[in-house]
Amino acid sequence: MKLIDGNQIATDIIAELKAEVSTISGRKPCIALIRVGEDPASVSYVRKKEKTAAEIGIKSQIILPPITISHEELAALIEEQNNDDTVDGILIQSPMPKQINELLIFRGISPDKDVDGLGTMNIGKIAQDDETGFISCTPAGIMALLARSDVDLKGKHVVVIGRSLLVGKPVALLALQKKAGANGTVTVCHSGTSNLPEIARHADVLIAAIGRPEFVTKDMVKPGAVIIDVGINRVDDDTKKRGYRLAGDVDFSAVSEIASQITPVPGGVGPMTVAMLMKNTVKAYHQRNAS
Ligand code: NAP
Repeated sequence: MKLIDGNQIATDIIAELKAEVSTISGRKPCIALIRVGEDPASVSYVRKKEKTAAEIGIKSQIILPPITISHEELAALIEEQNNDDTVDGILIQSPMPKQINELLIFRGISPDKDVDGLGTMNIGKIAQDDETGFISCTPAGIMALLARSDVDLKGKHVVVIGRSLLVGKPVALLALQKKAGANGTVTVCHSGTSNLPEIARHADVLIAAIGRPEFVTKDMVKPGAVIIDVGINRVDDDTKKRGYRLAGDVDFSAVSEIASQITPVPGGVGPMTVAMLMKNTVKAYHQRNAS
């Protein structure tokens, strides 16, 4: 069994981006990072994005509206960033407070700055195999992990468990694309799937994005399958100082005995997300400069 080391692959991508950005003379790429309120997880995610941007040489503009901001005020703030020529990418951290319609906010980001890839245009471009679009960061990270682990999906049965807009749906579309590295035969499972373990057992590549700790057990996996575990779940654990441990959607210790390659949690898909956000920001910079 080979461990797919997301930390190492993300570090490699960040180093490649740093080298690329160092060759840019004049204005450097810039990302606007918008965080509404003080949710501790969001504070830590945005800090990590700011730190990685700085490491690469990408400028970040941090915007911190109060938790009481109205939907209309937030939409106006996004519009200001859309119109700011010095901003190449816009990221608005989820979750947003309940008065905000997230989907409308994502749609309001100009498609050429939508580096989180959650707007209608960029999701649509995945379906059209259009390479000018921005692929949302977690699915993009999964595809990069597979490519850099020499997993070619052509002729393979790819089973995705989960159909969220954030992970399951876009990664299924990406695996299906008619292009090098993809060309998979894709099945998507969800809570309405009746024979899920049986379908999972037929997967050459199994992508679990469910949000249920250790849902995928050894008996659901074909020996030799490649396993991508997207899940990040907190499980109570009194033996840990913080009172919980992080678990993926896959029973790692048992499944790793029969998988050919597998991502750990943490240290698999997670670190890729920020790296892909930065990659999208550099791409947005080049595309905007070329147009
Ligand atoms: P989500 O929006 O809650 O979607 C979960 C999907 O799993 C849904 O499609 C749901 O089906 C399906 N599902 C839930 N229970 C199921 C069951 N018993 N049988 C079959 N399908 C089931 O979650 P998400 O945003 O995709 O995230 C999934 C996991 O990945 C979470 O643990 C999240 O924390 C993690 N995540 C990690 C990263 C990262 O960077 N590594 C990024 C994003 C998310 P229905 O559609 O039928 O409800």
